[in-house]
Amino acid sequence: MTEIKVNLKESPYSVYLLKENFSQNFKKIISKLDLPSRVLVVTNKKIASLFLNKVLDPLRGRKIKVFFVPDSEKAKSFYYFIKLTQEAVNFDRLGDLFFTALGGGVIGDLVGFSASVYRRGVPYIQIPTTLLAQVDSSIGGKTGIDLESAKNMVGSFYQPKAVISYLGFLETLSMKEIINGGAEIVKYGVIKSKELFYYLRDNLERFLKLNRKVLFKIIYECINIKKKIIELDEKETKGIRTILNFGHTIGHAIESATFYKKYSHGEAISIGMVLATQIALKMGICKEKVYWEVKTILEKMGLPTKIKKIPPSLLIQSLLKDKKFKRGRIRMVLPLKIGKAKVFEDVDLSLIKEVIQRGS
Ligand code: NAD
Ligand code: MG
Repeated sequence: MTEIKVNLKESPYSVYLLKENFSQNFKKIISKLDLPSRVLVVTNKKIASLFLNKVLDPLRGRKIKVFFVPDSEKAKSFYYFIKLTQEAVNFDRLGDLFFTALGGGVIGDLVGFSASVYRRGVPYIQIPTTLLAQVDSSIGGKTGIDLESAKNMVGSFYQPKAVISYLGFLETLSMKEIINGGAEIVKYGVIKSKELFYYLRDNLERFLKLNRKVLFKIIYECINIKKKIIELDEKETKGIRTILNFGHTIGHAIESATFYKKYSHGEAISIGMVLATQIALKMGICKEKVYWEVKTILEKMGLPTKIKKIPPSLLIQSLLKDKKFKRGRIRMVLPLKIGKAKVFEDVDLSLIKEVIQRGS
């Protein structure tokens, strides 16, 4: 079991990365944390059928209640937030309760948000079961739910008491879900670690086959990169955390222009990263080699790198809705080389339009 400490002043916690013996290690971890005696475990039926027993066994001795949400982004809604907190009220005795999120980013975000406001905050732990959740969403305390009209519009910063990631959980993921997380891994490589980027490139096949040694090294690196950024800028007030948005400006526009139906998040940011790198190339701040390396690794992973069937005008409209646009200039994260990126406050809109019109 490997422990990575997230050193935050007010709310430090550890991310545990487990290669084997989930239940045994999980039991050890929670016995060390001073947690309430009742636990509300939140998951969905699919994940429960795969792993719920593994999680419940080590919790025996406590009062346990399991709350199921549907298997889709719909779970991240006011409706399920109310249902979840109502369930908590019914089960709770004088606030002696903590929450556990067993699932991907959807469940993690819903549970984190609910934990942050229920009784003005109860403890929660994250047990991420998707690659995306293990490398990204479970760490850093960004929580939230969606409005019908806008994703992640209601939320909070609220850190978990622990994150317990187990490689064994990833074995049942579809290839689509693996590369969805893979896109964020490429992002970490480009913005912060050339070692990670080239390690992934050189071990891509083993990564896609979920070779445990390769997975461990990659997930470990990603957790470390994210935790270091969060330690410097927990609440995104210093502009440091912004670097994690590489590929996300155009990526989000792609997702919203297609009503979150056509592209997964990983697919959208894959295209977003390629286009951002092209913008960097046109601005003369990175070399052509960087562009080809970014594009090639994403393609080899099976991710799209070109905009298809979205009219450029629609995409630009979507981008313009972004409140970060100011006087025709926008803030974007652009790569300088593999392993180094920078936040630019004033990227020219006409350049972005030109790149979008070309499509890749
Ligand atoms: P998800 O939670 O919807 O999970 C994807 C699918 O995989 C679901 O169908 C789920 O039931 C299934 N699944 C989960 N674990 C499985 C397993 N081990 N085996 C088989 N199937 C499994 O999607 P996600 O990609 O994990 O998360 C996406 C969400 O995360 C979005 O809502 C996004 O906004 C959010 N997010 C949050 C942050 C953050 O910092 N809080 C960062 C990135 C993304
Ligand atoms: Mg993302």
